[in-house]
Amino acid sequence: MFKLNEDQLLIKETARDVAQEQIAPLASDYDKKEQFPVKSVKYLQELGFMAMMVSEEYGGSGLDTVSYALAMEEISAACASTGVTMSVNNSLYAYPVEAFGTHEQKQKYLEPIISDHIGAFALSEPDAGSDPAAMTTKAVKDGDDWILNGSKMWITNGGEADYYVVFAITDAEKKHKGISTFIVKKGDPGFEIGAKEHKLGIRASSTTPLSMDSCRIPGDRLLGAEGDGFKIAM
Ligand SMILES: Cc1cc2nc3c(=O)[nH]c(=O)nc-3n(C[C@H](O)[C@H](O)[C@H](O)COP(=O)(O)OP(=O)(O)OC[C@H]3O[C@@H](n4cnc5c(N)ncnc54)[C@H](O)[C@@H]3O)c2cc1C
Repeated sequence: MFKLNEDQLLIKETARDVAQEQIAPLASDYDKKEQFPVKSVKYLQELGFMAMMVSEEYGGSGLDTVSYALAMEEISAACASTGVTMSVNNSLYAYPVEAFGTHEQKQKYLEPIISDHIGAFALSEPDAGSDPAAMTTKAVKDGDDWILNGSKMWITNGGEADYYVVFAITDAEKKHKGISTFIVKKGDPGFEIGAKEHKLGIRASSTTPLSMDSCRIPGDRLLGAEGDGFKIAM
């Protein structure tokens, strides 16, 4: 019979305590005001819950998937917006960077999101949702740099995140095998964050479009090999 082990039970209990005592009392106000749940996210960063499965080598908690799911359940029950913010940081930013990044990339782009900065994942576009291979954002090499052009849509943590895993076409002829993955930072030249969407629910989580207009990033921001993007996204 499946049973939670002692560590998993402790995570669940810790998550429930912080969720009920600190996060739940703030949830309604954040939601009504469509305000990013800054304080709730800070509580999670202090506990290491924003990067639960990142290995200890890079400053994470090195926990298993069951512990992560248990914490997600407790946090989301108290504030769904905080839960979504937490899930994107853990699953959609930290996971691909840890799984496909080099040691140097993990030091530069993973360690900062453990207890301070926030990450996001930018795959969807205005005309490429369920079918991400239909994306039109492109990246071309210019010397050692990459130049990105295109737009992304409905990006969770948009505007609040400092680091974005962004997908773009590097070889259109290869279709989905010609998509590559890049790390774009808030403040990179040509990288703009659009206005926050007004949603019917989970309103405190930030959802924005992004645009890249000749956005220049250094060559070491390619995550994985050229053409690995679709595999990384899936
Ligand atoms: C609040 C919110 C947060 C989001 N956060 C992110 C994020 O952080 N990063 C990111 O990259 N994206 C994000 N998204 C985008 C999300 O991943 C897309 O909305 C999703 O992929 C669906 O795409 P779409 O909205 O274009 O719908 P469509 O692809 O247009 O689909 C519309 C409907 O048609 C159905 N459908 C589509 N294709 C087929 C088919 N071939 N056969 C049968 N039925 C089909 C779908 O199931 C759906 O019901 C977010 C979206 C929302 C609403």
